[in-house]
Amino acid sequence: MNIAYIDEMDIKNKSILLRADLNVPLDNGGNITDDTRIRAVLPTINYALDENAKVILVSHLGRPKGKRVEGLSLAPVAKRLSRLLDKDVKFIPETVGGEVESAISSMKQGEVVLLENLRFYPEEESNDAEFGQRLAKLAEVYINDAFATAHRSHASNVAVTRFIGVCGAGLLMRQEITYFERAVENPVRPVVAIVGGAKISDKLRLLGNLSAKVDKLIVGGGLVFTLFKAIGYEVGKSIVEDSVIDDARAVVETIRGRGIKFYLPVDFVVADKFDPSAETKVVTSQEIPKDWMALDIGPATTALFSEAIQNAKTIIWNGPMGVFELDAFSRGTYAMISHVANTYALTIIGGGDTDVAVHRAGEMAKMSYISTGGGAFLALLEGKDLPGIAALRQCSAGAQAAGG
Ligand code: AMP
Repeated sequence: MNIAYIDEMDIKNKSILLRADLNVPLDNGGNITDDTRIRAVLPTINYALDENAKVILVSHLGRPKGKRVEGLSLAPVAKRLSRLLDKDVKFIPETVGGEVESAISSMKQGEVVLLENLRFYPEEESNDAEFGQRLAKLAEVYINDAFATAHRSHASNVAVTRFIGVCGAGLLMRQEITYFERAVENPVRPVVAIVGGAKISDKLRLLGNLSAKVDKLIVGGGLVFTLFKAIGYEVGKSIVEDSVIDDARAVVETIRGRGIKFYLPVDFVVADKFDPSAETKVVTSQEIPKDWMALDIGPATTALFSEAIQNAKTIIWNGPMGVFELDAFSRGTYAMISHVANTYALTIIGGGDTDVAVHRAGEMAKMSYISTGGGAFLALLEGKDLPGIAALRQCSAGAQAAGG
């Protein structure tokens, strides 16, 4: 059973509980520093408004850990959304209960309200059934457009679907799933995956899964050193997760067994300490000094990797090539961004830090798609079923079985 999308459903004049991801970054003064996530859900909101629906938005913001934290109120998001939609967005300082229900009952068709931060309630993150039921009570139709939280099992994306008759996904969710399928499930070949970053155990699972689907696998970033140590190279003081060395060895064997092209760095920028003012030099991958740490790929590696992607028709990228947050170790990541941006391939950037780096490089427009979900995109690449999407599938199946 496939999930239903909002534009395939009858939502005319209905009330819609729309789970969005409005988890925007705020500065110390509580100002929104980047409204990309708000903009990403506008097509779904506008579609619902065109259908004359009542739109009841819910989202989380930050990590208040089940308590009310004033600095993490969604009130500033309501204001920004109102400006972007050019229409009033009423903010309700509660998420469930009497005040919310009475505000919703006085809503007119074509109006939008935003409820308070879901994560002020501990029941949200514990996927509490009763909390899901209280959310479900607020509307006739449930739409999930929060791809970035789809890898979590929370009340607003899982429990709620058990108590509301009609469920579907929004237009952002469709875009995310479609691009993922175009990149991984049904790609135009050759397909190249570039994997970097430092969440080593997650990335090992990802390498295992991707190696069955791609033609070339390019690995850079901090996870390289666990692989190098597993195959017996000297890695000095570079980042290594010793508890997964055996897994790393098994993953290398698996990749080699698949017969795909497997590229590892041939040189690095090493530093005598983890510091912007560290002494640095470029060494080959065989010559990392014992007391130094490798914090970026070197120029020979950039040349090798950029040549390897030249004939790609599809490129999927997750994770930076080095510690790009520090200028001295950012060159490898930025050089690869520019090479990827200038290929003719379908280029898909897997959210998280890679997304940050692409924004800093100003190359967003040259990428085919940048996912809004770091963890969710990574989980999809690892081959996991996302609970938020599975719940929509079950809900749609249930509705169909009941003749809905
Ligand atoms: P991830 O969330 O797994 O994509 O990891 C992103 C983080 O990996 C960034 O904060 C980078 O600074 C870090 N990283 C990339 N390369 C290295 C490296 N060689 N050593 C330590 N950290 C790294």
